[in-house]
Amino acid sequence: MRLSRYFLPVLKETPAEAQIASHRLMLRAGMIKQQQAGIYSWLPLGFKVLRKLENIVHEEQIRAGHVPMLMPTLQPADLWRESGRYEDYGEEMLRITDRHGRDMLYGPTNEEMITDIFRAHVSSYKDLPLTLYHIQWKFRDEIRPRFGVMRGREFFMKDGYNFDVDYAGAMHAYNRHMVSYLRTYERMGLQAIPMRADSGPIGGDNTHEFLVLAETGESEVFYDSAITDLKLGDREIDFDNWDEVSAICTEWTTPYARTDETHDAAAFAEVPQDRRKSSRGIEVGQIFYFGTKYSEPMGATVQDGDGNKVPVHMGSHGIGVSRLVGAIIEANHDEGGIIWPEGVTPFHAGIVNLRQGDAETDGACESLYKALTAAGLEPLYDDRSERAGAKFATMDLIGLPWRITVGPRGLKTGVIELTSRRTGESEELAPEAAVARLTEIYAGHM
Ligand code: ATP
Ligand code: MG
Repeated sequence: MRLSRYFLPVLKETPAEAQIASHRLMLRAGMIKQQQAGIYSWLPLGFKVLRKLENIVHEEQIRAGHVPMLMPTLQPADLWRESGRYEDYGEEMLRITDRHGRDMLYGPTNEEMITDIFRAHVSSYKDLPLTLYHIQWKFRDEIRPRFGVMRGREFFMKDGYNFDVDYAGAMHAYNRHMVSYLRTYERMGLQAIPMRADSGPIGGDNTHEFLVLAETGESEVFYDSAITDLKLGDREIDFDNWDEVSAICTEWTTPYARTDETHDAAAFAEVPQDRRKSSRGIEVGQIFYFGTKYSEPMGATVQDGDGNKVPVHMGSHGIGVSRLVGAIIEANHDEGGIIWPEGVTPFHAGIVNLRQGDAETDGACESLYKALTAAGLEPLYDDRSERAGAKFATMDLIGLPWRITVGPRGLKTGVIELTSRRTGESEELAPEAAVARLTEIYAGHM
């Protein structure tokens, strides 16, 4: 992409309404525009990151054996009357009436609708296990939308639902989700810690939230720092192997990690003192086993192996895709702007032309642009007639991990400059060497 043809409405001023770094930077970098409280347009740069995260979520869900689909944003109220949640959900639900006077709602989540789909089409245990998911816009009329996309009213969420014939099967589905989520966040360059969460009236140890540590997080968290050393890396995982998946979950859930809702001071006191940490966290996902809570009232049953009709065991599992854009920035920025992890960056590298209009410099930038594109990378080429300082500031603000600076002085000796956004370190090298280096860096992130 050439910047002269792109739409990148960066702001010079720091927007006064934004209280936290990610919100400020998303506005300044021209990623989003607020349309109403908690409702945003995703401008091209923001949209590109959102799509990247969505793709990672899809890839990891499919890898775990889960099946993508798409349900509508608008739902009939009658489905929610069946589960009893139409009244219970309260003011967070946006209720709409159509021209025929029928009650509808903008879905805050999809348990009822997926249960309705399931009961219409599945009746035998032989069709199980099954996990269906979608990535779709949700609406919750949050009383205090804030922090930009972190707590919006309209937000983009992956929600998946497992259907299993019994508790044991549903627990494997739960574990599979935990491991697929760990993989997902790791690919995004994030550490999200699974923390035992409050399961409310259902009880039991069957829900975990995933929290990214950040000072601006809304949750208070307590953890054993040993958990921050855990990494999946490039382990091969067989998601059908119950024991293997369960062992990974045990690894991640053994060190103490809880939010204030489930915090247990006595258990925490047993963690060695130097590893006892408390901090703030951003909830970027949650997994939940709820058994037959929806299948029973809604009549979603299957015939089990003995010919008995039993309500199906379910769980629901969510990832806050749009919130993650903010969470990643909270965890990766400095005074100059955003610092995208390589796995989610909107463009792989920025090309800065120090003397636009100079035939040799323009030519070198063009051939770099072509070579990077041919290597399967997406460069953003700043081909505007701006001062170098302004170009550098824009690149720092939008946070591409690598910047290639091309100027007449370097070209005299056949070199360009490759700069890391994260470390600020620069290196002079031949253009072909820079392309090779970037190709290698991104090989693990494609
Ligand atoms: P919170 O406690 O932050 O209000 P929640 O527990 O109500 O969230 P879930 O129903 O667990 O949310 O939804 C799954 C995920 O969707 C959350 O983990 C979070 O990442 C994201 N999410 C929830 N509400 C919002 C929101 N208002 N704006 C953006 N993302 C959200
Ligand atoms: Mg939650």
